Amino acid sequence: LQVVESVEPRIAGAIRSELHDQRASLKLIASENYASPAVLLTMGNWLSDKYAEGTIGHRFYAGCQNVDTVESIAAEHARELFGAEYAYVQPHSGIDANLVAFWSILAHRVEQPELAEAGVRQVNELSEDAWEVLRKKFGEQRMLGMSLDAGGHLTHGFRPNISGKMFQQRSYGTNPETGLVDYDQVAAAAREFRPLILIAGYSAYPRRIDFARMREIADEVGATFMVDMAHFAGLVAGKVFTGDEDPVPFADVVTTTTHKSLRGPRGGLVLATGEYAPSVDRGCPMVLGGPLSHVMAAKAVALAEARQPSFQTYAQQVADNAKTLADGLMRRGAKLVTDGTDNHLVLIDVSGYGLTGRQAESALLEAGVVTNRNAVPSDPNGAWYTSGVRLGTPALTSRGFGGAEFEQVADLITSVLSSTTPATASNGQPGKARYVLADGVAEGTRARIAEL
Ligand code: PLP
Repeated sequence: LQVVESVEPRIAGAIRSELHDQRASLKLIASENYASPAVLLTMGNWLSDKYAEGTIGHRFYAGCQNVDTVESIAAEHARELFGAEYAYVQPHSGIDANLVAFWSILAHRVEQPELAEAGVRQVNELSEDAWEVLRKKFGEQRMLGMSLDAGGHLTHGFRPNISGKMFQQRSYGTNPETGLVDYDQVAAAAREFRPLILIAGYSAYPRRIDFARMREIADEVGATFMVDMAHFAGLVAGKVFTGDEDPVPFADVVTTTTHKSLRGPRGGLVLATGEYAPSVDRGCPMVLGGPLSHVMAAKAVALAEARQPSFQTYAQQVADNAKTLADGLMRRGAKLVTDGTDNHLVLIDVSGYGLTGRQAESALLEAGVVTNRNAVPSDPNGAWYTSGVRLGTPALTSRGFGGAEFEQVADLITSVLSSTTPATASNGQPGKARYVLADGVAEGTRARIAEL
């Protein structure tokens, strides 16, 4: 940091301060983790300076031999780790991985058949009129995915995201009584809507998915089956999710981030069957520009780490810790969406404490517990204030927390929530953001955290 300090001390200060914050608080954001020093160090080197648009062995720049080596090794680790036929490691993030997947599926399912019918080999050989017809066809395509309030992700066809502008979208929710995915309802929606893409995957659903059943539904309606395992890739890599719970043998295309439960650098990747591989391989330049070669190198290191037996122990501990946390919270009176968890995350419905998600998130943060507010199914407080708080175990498990520590974490969280009351907003109405935390609770909680 001394080198950074000599150029821009404020940046060095922010980095130091981030390290301090991450050490002094409990990181319970379900999408965060602590990457290893090997992963972090691999991101800071001269690979960052190299342009390498294109694919392995087929670049638009000279001198890409080292990037070819890096990308090949990262792809090989991804294929081997997940048992995939093909892996594409260039996406800079989860959203990029999804965009690559969507455009690849459109290319494979819509563009190529249209071109074949028009008797041409490439889009740029099409007449203007034919191109207009093809563009209209792209815009008519449909996607069926999990609703946002059931735990789906914005990139699965929702309006604020470009995917919602690319596709006509319909979503499946969860059963209002059990909170679980109702596969018969998914099948009924698929029969009626006839999507081009059936997508499974989530950011805030605390349960496992039956990918074999989803595959059957996709097959029945002729949909491409895509899984976004951004959140639970670490549990797949660590063999906690096997059989019907492992998406890779069932999906045509699987996307993931590399920085959540997988514990790698910030980034994304796409796995595909041989059938979809050629169109995914067009990710650059179809969607992406020059790859982040230093990050692909760090992905290779993280994937190599995830192939070690110790990663399976880690992944199992992530799931065990989530159960301990969920049970500990429920025993202390918290209401959880689906009454528990069987993955890495827990969603507390904080309306039982008379709080919005925003108030609960802020009170917990004041006490040193970092979480994020999250909508619960049919949330009366909408996506901004919400009625839930999402917790995840991957980061603290990386710090070595086990059952005893998570029992204490459950205790800290419930004591903060039950010591928090909503405060009146500036307009005199019942507040959705302001709160009061009882005297001494923040300090007491921080002191207990320091001992963990
Ligand atoms: N897909 C899912 C299921 C996610 O939870 C997320 C991130 O939260 C993403 C995609 C997007 O990942 P990124 O933030 O790297 O673009």
